[in-house]
Amino acid sequence: MNIDFSDIEQFKTLFAEPRRVVIVSHTNPDGDAIGSSLALAEVLRMRGHETTCIVPNRFPYYLEWIPRAKEMLVYRFDAEQAKATIDCADVIICADMNNLSRLEELSEAIASNTTAKRLLIDHHLNPGEGFDLVFSHPESSSTAFLVYSILSQAFGTQIIDRTIATQLYVGIITDTGNFAFSHLTPELFRAVAVLVEAGIDIPTIYNNIYNSFTEGRARLFGYAINRKMKTLLKGTVAYISLTEEELRRYWFQQGDSEGFVNYPLTVKKMRMSAMFTQQHDFIRVSLRSRGNIDVDTFARRYFNGGGHRNAAGGKSFMTMDETIRHYIAAVEEYHAEGKV
Ligand code: 5GP
Ligand code: MN
Repeated sequence: MNIDFSDIEQFKTLFAEPRRVVIVSHTNPDGDAIGSSLALAEVLRMRGHETTCIVPNRFPYYLEWIPRAKEMLVYRFDAEQAKATIDCADVIICADMNNLSRLEELSEAIASNTTAKRLLIDHHLNPGEGFDLVFSHPESSSTAFLVYSILSQAFGTQIIDRTIATQLYVGIITDTGNFAFSHLTPELFRAVAVLVEAGIDIPTIYNNIYNSFTEGRARLFGYAINRKMKTLLKGTVAYISLTEEELRRYWFQQGDSEGFVNYPLTVKKMRMSAMFTQQHDFIRVSLRSRGNIDVDTFARRYFNGGGHRNAAGGKSFMTMDETIRHYIAAVEEYHAEGKV
C-alpha cells in the first residue's frame, strides 16, 4: 500500500511524547471497526500512551471474545465516562469511518473537544473534512490492513504481538469475507504471514466469529431466505425485509442479521442485493453488489448513506412498505441508466 512517507513521519512525531488518545469507530461496529481500533490502542498503550476505545453502540455478541474488546466504552451505556475521557483527550483517532456523522450520538461529544489533534484512518470512499492527519485508503480491503501498514512502517513489525495480530486478523477476515472479496493484494498476504508468525490461531478465530451464533440466528436466516427474499429484474436484483415483529419471533440479538444480505449473491445471476432491517426509529439499509455495480452511489443517492462500491449502507425513515416501494423505484431508475 502506498502510504505517504511524510504522513508516517507526522504520525511518529505526534506520538513521540505520551498522549491521551481516544479511538472511535462507527455505529453498529463490525469486526474491522473493533479489530482495527483495539490494535491501534494496544500498540499505542505499549508505547506509553493512555488509550480508550469508544463505540457509539453495542457490538455483536460474537465479537466479545476479541482480546480487550470488553474494555471498550459503549457510548449509549456509558455516556458520562465517555464524555469525560473525550474531554481530556489530546489525540482523537477516527478508525474505519469516513465522517463524524457515522458516530451518530457520539459525534457531538467528539465535536465538543476542539483542541485535540484529529486523525482519520479509514478505507471508505469520500473522507470528511476537519482532520489534522488523514490516512484515507479506499484501495485497502480493510482498515485493519491499513492499521497494520501504518504501525509496521512507523514502528516495525516486531511491535505486533499475538494479541495485536489477532485483533488485526479479525478486521482483515471480516471485511474481506474471509479472503473472498476485492483488493486482495500480495501485500495483504505478506501481512497475514507476519500475523501467523506472531502466533495467531486461524481456525479458532474463524470458529469464534462464524460458528458462534445462536439457534435463533440460524432459524431467522432460514426464514429470511425462504420467505422474505424477493427478486426484481428477472431474478438479478434481490431484497430482504425484516420487521421488528419478525426479529422478535426469532429472539433477535444485535448482530444476528449481519451477513444475510450477502446470501442472495450466491445465486449466479444475482447482481445486487439489499436488506431492510427495522430498528426502533428507522429502517437500516444494507446493500451489496457484484463487479461494476456501484452501491456506494446508490446508497448516497437513495438512502442517505454510503460505503464501498460493492458494500454500502444507509437509512430509511419511511415505513417498511414505503421503503420497499422506494427501493423498487430506485432500482428501476438505476436500471434505466444502465447502472444495474
Ligand atoms: P453494512 O451493510 O455491513 O452495515 O455496511 C456496509 C458498508 O457500508 C460498511 O462499510 C459501512 O461502514 C457502510 N455503511 C453502512 N451504513 C452506512 C450509513 O448509514 N452511512 C454511510 N456513509 N456508510 C454506511
Ligand atoms: Mn472496514
